[in-house]
Amino acid sequence: MTARILNGNAIRDQIYSELAAEISALKAAGIQPGLAAVLAGENPASKLYVNSKIAACGKLGLASFLITPPASISTDDLLAVVDELNRRDDVDGILVQMPLPHQVSSKKILDALDPAKDVDGFHPINVGKLVAGQPSLAACTPSGVMEILRRSNIPIEGSNAAVMGRSDIVGKPMALLLLHANATVTICHSKTHELKDVVHRADIVVAAMGRAAMVTPEFIRPGATVIDVGQNVIADRADALRIFANFPEKLETFRAKGSVLVGDVHPDVVNVAGAFTPVPGGVGPLTIAMLMSNTVKAARMRRGSSAPVAAAGKS
Ligand code: NDP
Repeated sequence: MTARILNGNAIRDQIYSELAAEISALKAAGIQPGLAAVLAGENPASKLYVNSKIAACGKLGLASFLITPPASISTDDLLAVVDELNRRDDVDGILVQMPLPHQVSSKKILDALDPAKDVDGFHPINVGKLVAGQPSLAACTPSGVMEILRRSNIPIEGSNAAVMGRSDIVGKPMALLLLHANATVTICHSKTHELKDVVHRADIVVAAMGRAAMVTPEFIRPGATVIDVGQNVIADRADALRIFANFPEKLETFRAKGSVLVGDVHPDVVNVAGAFTPVPGGVGPLTIAMLMSNTVKAARMRRGSSAPVAAAGKS
């Protein structure tokens, strides 16, 4: 059996075209949605992420504002930056790129965000609303996984879902979103006993542990849908040869670049699963798409527009 590939890039493009139409409708109603990104310090990976988010805003017609405080900024000064963004009417969404400089209290900063502008969905008010099943701004990566499942017509209601990982940004919100979609959800973590057996019972497996290629074919019930959230860089030749023994094109990438990306799911799972998301090109593209979607949703909720709602913007 060879699994159906769930193409995240195609789903992202579909969401973008819906969002572009919705943004045009908002603009016609006199509303220009805007996203503010706070990038403190010089972390190269953070710069790359923020630049991709700003580029997506430009592509879709969202206003974007980049705020770049120095790495030496104090918690109080960053709180003042957040306070100003909370008050600005042209800012609908605020994202504070993590990690923050070590002297800054990330918790204080995230808690200070106006929940109505918290497009990453990390504020306790939004987490609480997610738990209660109320409309909210939900975390982007799990929301993206739901879009992949729904738009690929994977049955969720009544299915057994195993979420591997229980972080605040992926595992927990993922489990809640699946639960609200009427899946029977098991949350697995590093202390789970008989992990392989637990996961093997699942119709839908979401792997988000940050453990390269850990989910081997023995974990997967034949025909199950496997969603791979993990993003791990393999820079060791022996590891690359072991993981990608059956994937010469990946080994070629490794030879050319000196590294290759792998998810938390072993590539051989393609022979057992019914459907799966590749890495790269699966879940990854959806994270920024859902940030854009949350920004439009925040604009609509905060400014009370009755403009039509795109599918990606529904809670
Ligand atoms: P965290 O490190 O915060 O959480 C990892 C979770 O996995 C923990 O709950 C941990 O359990 C669990 N875990 C670790 N090892 C095992 C194991 N051997 N067996 C079972 N469970 C285990 O990671 P994140 O949630 O932030 O990220 C997970 C992965 O997703 C990473 O690869 C990250 O790069 C990727 N990611 C991808 C995104 C995308 O856009 N595609 C966005 C965000 C993350 P415990 O709680 O017991 O320690």
